[in-house]
Amino acid sequence: MFENLSERLERSFKILKGEGKITEINVAETLKDVRRALLDADVNYKVAKQFTDTVKQKAMGMNVLTAIKPSQLMVKIVHDELTELMGGKAVELNLENRPAIILMSGLQGSGKTTFTGKLAKMLKDRQHKKPLLVACDVYRPAAIEQLKVVAETVGVDVYTEEGNKNVVEIAQNAIRKAKQESYTVVIVDTAGRLAVDEEMMNEISNLKQAINPDETLFVVDSMTGQDAVNTAKEFNDRLDFDGVVLTKLDGDTRGGAALSIRTVVTKPIKFVGTGEKMEAIDVFHPERMADRILGMGDVVSLVERAQQQFDEKQARELEKKIRKNKFDFNDFMAQIQQIKKMGNIKELAGMIPGVGKALKDVDIDDNAFKGIEAIINSMTPKERSNPDIINQSRKIRIAKGSGTKLEEVNRLLKQFDQTKKMMKMVSGMDKGKMAQMAAA
Ligand code: GDP
Repeated sequence: MFENLSERLERSFKILKGEGKITEINVAETLKDVRRALLDADVNYKVAKQFTDTVKQKAMGMNVLTAIKPSQLMVKIVHDELTELMGGKAVELNLENRPAIILMSGLQGSGKTTFTGKLAKMLKDRQHKKPLLVACDVYRPAAIEQLKVVAETVGVDVYTEEGNKNVVEIAQNAIRKAKQESYTVVIVDTAGRLAVDEEMMNEISNLKQAINPDETLFVVDSMTGQDAVNTAKEFNDRLDFDGVVLTKLDGDTRGGAALSIRTVVTKPIKFVGTGEKMEAIDVFHPERMADRILGMGDVVSLVERAQQQFDEKQARELEKKIRKNKFDFNDFMAQIQQIKKMGNIKELAGMIPGVGKALKDVDIDDNAFKGIEAIINSMTPKERSNPDIINQSRKIRIAKGSGTKLEEVNRLLKQFDQTKKMMKMVSGMDKGKMAQMAAA
């Protein structure tokens, strides 16, 4: 995400390295570079100009702070201004009403239906809500089907009226049902078109008027750059939506939409989508995003993701096993599944300060564990719980069964052995010994 922009900004700050103080000249030179970097990231030109003007003003105003190096000062100011540009603070959904009604809007293919599922899952898992999804994309039977599949995947209910083309009626019926059956959130998925057109806008603005939602969200594909911003403007002019959902931030999107939308439509980005899976959703935090853009990582989000996937009971059992030296391939596999649930591996690595940039050209994806999983799946249950019995002929069989090479099986067994030894050492060690080791 935003790799190019991060790199370009870092290069811009280098202009100030070695400079003793901020001057009109070195600031102008740096900001010219920053502005070019923003424009190349597809940031709206007015937004980019306004941004560098503000940074310049602040930098010149802070010139008195001689204790701070100019390059550091510039990074700090740019960081703060990027945060501001994206809205300053995270803005939550207004879900006080029972049921709270959320209306989804956006073009076809923007990721509305996928996001409807992700949001339902998030509200159910983290806020113990009881969501009802409503299929108001009545023109494509496949769309209704897709919403049903999504609902089933995340384990929530869905309301459909096959054959009925009156979306206001469908939504009102769904809301009535939600009230009767104590659903706490109603999420209405609507039809999008490939481009903005009058009919679609009329339909959705009528729907909005009829059901008076607590939140109208505009979903947009961040890969579309400036188009995303223009579409946002058109939808906002008609719908006066409450917040933006930026999807597909996991792709190599340049950042223009994330950085320009807030200024152009003066509505906050509330969520981002970072993958096709139902877990790939994040609340949008401007400051954390600024951290990431400037290559500072995003440890807070990383820890949050880990906590959401962390199963305390399972962890305690695992610890017991480690103590008893009983960690086996079943546990190994379970751990891999937990990591995978946290999302795209490369994206996770990007949240660790310093690591994202180093991994820019490294090809790691969700398939990173495929070979390992195949090998473990080719083991018999006995071998998985008793890796010691895996002799040469078993190894050959496992390699064949998993479509891997014998060396790969050997490597995994060796790594497993080392991991186990290390775990035993760490769990058996008291604090004194650890301190000794750290001091050595
Ligand atoms: P809709 O027409 O607006 O309902 O869009 P869909 O929800 O059907 O999404 C269109 C395509 O984009 C699907 O193939 C989704 O899997 C994909 N998609 C949605 N959100 C994301 C995301 O955050 N990242 C990626 N990589 N793909 C996404």
